[in-house]
Amino acid sequence: MLNQFIINVSLLISLIFMYVTFRRKLGQFHPSPLTLYLYDGVSGGLMGYVLMNFSILLVEGTFIDFRYIPIILIFLFIDNKAAILSALLIAAARFFIGISISSYFSILILSLLILGLYVMKYFARKIESIYLKGMIMVIYATFLYTLYFINLLDVTTEIILILVFFWLVSILGGLFALFLMNYLRTAELIVRKYEAEATIDYLTGLSNVRKFYQLLDYYTKKSKVKESPWAIAMVDIDFFKRVNDTYGHEAGDIVLIEVARLLEEVVDSEAFIFRKGGEEFTAIFPNTSLEKVVHSMEACRKAIESHIFNVGQLNELHITISIGICHFSETTTSVDDVMANADEKLYMAKERGRNRLVY
Ligand code: GH3
Ligand code: MG
Ligand code: MG
Repeated sequence: MLNQFIINVSLLISLIFMYVTFRRKLGQFHPSPLTLYLYDGVSGGLMGYVLMNFSILLVEGTFIDFRYIPIILIFLFIDNKAAILSALLIAAARFFIGISISSYFSILILSLLILGLYVMKYFARKIESIYLKGMIMVIYATFLYTLYFINLLDVTTEIILILVFFWLVSILGGLFALFLMNYLRTAELIVRKYEAEATIDYLTGLSNVRKFYQLLDYYTKKSKVKESPWAIAMVDIDFFKRVNDTYGHEAGDIVLIEVARLLEEVVDSEAFIFRKGGEEFTAIFPNTSLEKVVHSMEACRKAIESHIFNVGQLNELHITISIGICHFSETTTSVDDVMANADEKLYMAKERGRNRLVY
């Protein structure tokens, strides 16, 4: 029997690992809430079903297994409703295996389990430790199953010994499962946080140059398949070095943050804005005509020109920007040159005296 319990615990660990790994892969496709709910609910059901198939026979017709642990994990870490779906699927599968008194009891227990989990979640909402919460839930489930066995079987010394053993394994297995789930979920959150931070500019909060090249690549490839219009606008602050030299680097930073905010505000949802590096910004306009891009960027130029930058100690200053625009396919039909072309136009704007837009 010890061997069988060990097999069940190992199985549980592998199933949790697979569940979290596939969930992470699924996350890369930005699934809808319904898809995630179905994935979680069905996975919990499947895990329970697999565990049920490795049930340990106690006495003729009565089995012991860990089917409640996936339900508890999904309830605790993921979503209550998905846990209910898992419980329903497990109950349905129990009938599939064979109809007997214990299959009806099994449904009663699953219902009491879900009910208990809700009550517990309510009372345990002040408990910080996820392990403590989880252990209370595992103990409750183990208690329910113990009641069920006592009800169903003649209580002999052998059964009592088996039940003591069951408690031990259930608590150890539960603790193991909680630890693994918490570990995998935390690792996932950390990876996601780093992924997000890797594409964000720390100073302005805009997307950074890395994200810019990802999107540039995307639109370049897309227009080779389908000729939809798009454009790049390159923005460079004029004489920015003077700001740093006159008012200090910190004042320069304030100006950069403010320019980023103004660009986003004026362009609104028409374009994606990036900080390309230093005092240079870029905008990518998907599916937009040249006329609209020019209009939008001209509005940016004017907004920045007329903005008063407050850089501390009553220092109010004005700055201007130069802009170069390249539009596919109104100013170029060579899709691979959009960025170089916008850069050239920016250079021309500087050459012609700055504070202007060239396309
Ligand atoms: P131009 O009109 O030709 O663009 O002149 P400019 O002075 O803006 O251009 P230049 O390339 O000579 O100087 C850019 C300056 O931007 C130099 C650098 O110190 C400053 N800079 C780059 N990144 C940052 C930053 O994160 N914070 C601050 N405060 N300054 C920065
Ligand atoms: Mg520059
Ligand atoms: Mg500059």
